[in-house]
Amino acid sequence: MTLPPPSDRDSLLAEMTAALSAMPDPAACEHLRLFEDEAAHALGTAHAVAVSSGTAALHAALSACGIGQGDEVLVPALTVIMTVAPVCALGATPVFVDSDPATLDLDYEDAARKVNARTRAVLPVHLWGRMGDLGALAAFASEHGLAVIEDAAQAIGTVRIGRPAGGVGTVGCFSMKDGKILWSGEGGFLTTDSGQVAEHARAFRSHWQPAPPGEVPLGRLATNSRLAAPLAALALANLHRLPDLVERRRAQTRYLLNALEQVPGLSALAPGAGEEWNGFSPLLHIAHPSPRAFAEHLAQQGVPNSTGSFRLVPCDTRPMFPRPQQPCRGAAEILNRTLAVVLAEGDTQATLDRYADIIARAVAVRTP
Ligand SMILES: *Cc1c(COP(=O)(O)O)cnc(C)c1O
Repeated sequence: MTLPPPSDRDSLLAEMTAALSAMPDPAACEHLRLFEDEAAHALGTAHAVAVSSGTAALHAALSACGIGQGDEVLVPALTVIMTVAPVCALGATPVFVDSDPATLDLDYEDAARKVNARTRAVLPVHLWGRMGDLGALAAFASEHGLAVIEDAAQAIGTVRIGRPAGGVGTVGCFSMKDGKILWSGEGGFLTTDSGQVAEHARAFRSHWQPAPPGEVPLGRLATNSRLAAPLAALALANLHRLPDLVERRRAQTRYLLNALEQVPGLSALAPGAGEEWNGFSPLLHIAHPSPRAFAEHLAQQGVPNSTGSFRLVPCDTRPMFPRPQQPCRGAAEILNRTLAVVLAEGDTQATLDRYADIIARAVAVRTP
């Protein structure tokens, strides 16, 4: 098995040069407008709105769905703090829902128990690029009358039963931070079929100017979370490479999983039925004792991974939230037992061979 070389980057320089020659331009909208048109087209939604980060996309999306003081939003405990911070910033309360270790999907029984009269939305997170069961999500949301806001920050390129991640809910949120598959250094965008959500998000990212039709410009407190022109140019050039970027990530993940196939106590987590996974992170179930210490050891040895390098823990156990009466055990089990290797576009076959070698050695030391 060999890994194809990374795709050509000359187009990035060309778009950056074009953006630079137009600067300073207070209107700075040419690349942004093109990016939004093409992103909407790529995701199959009516609108895309570019913002300064994935966090900002979630913030604008939640605001556009009317989430505010006194509302509750169901969020998987199996996520990063960036999903939850915008819920709290709007004065709403995140209610953490457990996940099913067999599928990584939301535990809908737990979710149903946590719905009450204040619940306004469910925020599924396609962590590591994995999408859950879309039928179950749609049935749950419609039964309880909830908006669906997708955190698809890691999921661009994943398709399940013909539906792209970020194109399933009322609104989909993406990050273009440089660790994601589609990157611009920093940045994000949201996708939606609702003209009203798009107009709200465009106002929200720029201190309510332009205002939605019929409203007063600057008439509401909002944010500055515009995407800077040079980053919009990078985002556009990378969007043109998106099929290549997704294919490369898939190839890298296949390559590493293939190299680790015979390693005892590690087994690849297969995608769901009908899921065309983007391969965001090679995912391995760790059957060894002390799996978290194992992941931390790998991080120290130079294999970056979600738990070992970034201390990913269930969000309900983070210190800024009240101590949960019933912690989300499924989420904890998933995070304790999953090795999620962090990849980047530039990782070569040599990088992945080194990762495989370090992982195999670490297992050999632990296996009696
Ligand atoms: C990266 C990420 C975010 C936040 O995106 P930023 O661009 O860093 O603000 C949110 N949710 C998930 C799942 C992410 O991976």
